[in-house]
Amino acid sequence: MKTSEARKLLGVGPEATPEAIKKAFRHLAMRWHPDRNPAPEAGEFFGRLSTACDHLLGLVPAPAHGGGGGRAASRGDDRHQDIELDIERLCLGGEVDVVLESRIDCTACGGTGYSEAGYSQLCPRCQGSGRVRLGHVLFRCEDCDGRGYTRRIRCPRCEGAGKRLERRILTVTVPPGMLPGDELRLEGEGHPAATRGRPGDLRLRVRLLPHPVYTLDGGNIVLERPVSVFALLGGGRVAVPSPAGVRHLELEPGPGEAREQRIPGAGVPARGRRAAGDLCVRFVPVLPSVPVPALVRHYRALQAEMEHAGQACAPELAAWEKRWLPGSAMQG
Ligand SMILES: [Zn+2]
Ligand SMILES: [Zn+2]
Repeated sequence: MKTSEARKLLGVGPEATPEAIKKAFRHLAMRWHPDRNPAPEAGEFFGRLSTACDHLLGLVPAPAHGGGGGRAASRGDDRHQDIELDIERLCLGGEVDVVLESRIDCTACGGTGYSEAGYSQLCPRCQGSGRVRLGHVLFRCEDCDGRGYTRRIRCPRCEGAGKRLERRILTVTVPPGMLPGDELRLEGEGHPAATRGRPGDLRLRVRLLPHPVYTLDGGNIVLERPVSVFALLGGGRVAVPSPAGVRHLELEPGPGEAREQRIPGAGVPARGRRAAGDLCVRFVPVLPSVPVPALVRHYRALQAEMEHAGQACAPELAAWEKRWLPGSAMQG
């Protein structure tokens, strides 16, 4: 391949640095890579672009220092992105759609931002003067080559930007046991290589979506479970939610105050060397707020029993009554 032809294909001048050549190739590769472009001629054209790129890079001496330059050209850059997961997904894993956005050359104008009209018109940039002012200096207008009129019109598809946003949806399988900050690596889903090398990797960093009930503490799942004060006082089996389904906890009879209890291993599951977390449940007492008629006689019976038990049952109350109601009340 002739050097002039290679330059023309990539749209670079003789002064282009290896970096500029690779960049030009990357832009064109986004458009012509057969994985992206279903047109039958895309494969052949992409091959010519690769040859042109290799040819031009062969002309310029590779940097002698570093040692990374030569190898970097053989593989595309990694692409970094966040993936937002809720606690259920961290625990159970599953498939998640990830939207990948890339700015690629506008196909309508080939990335120039302009298209050629069938007529000449006053140059919109210099308003016909052929010159543009930068600070105090007048320069020749590049849009019309100083002529003041032009056939070039702003590309209507990309509005002159030369780029458009391409969205690609990738379905990713998330394994159970990921934690916020962990990275999921998808080989070959990163940026395309400058030359024939393989693309970089896609590296998805896990971010946690808030949940109305669960929070995370490392691999432990923490939640508050409102529970009747009688369940705390009397003990018994209590159901608690967990991302993997309802679990049950045995409460010992205890004070009618908030308390914590955990189910070992019922948090975020183990992954690699990391052990499974716990499910940490904080039981918060709820007092009956309405006197249900059918229960009123039970409350009265309970109250009588409590007065009888006095000091042992509610020491603060007993102390208050002993101080301020001497000779009556809880002394029966
Ligand atoms: Zn102009
Ligand atoms: Zn365009």
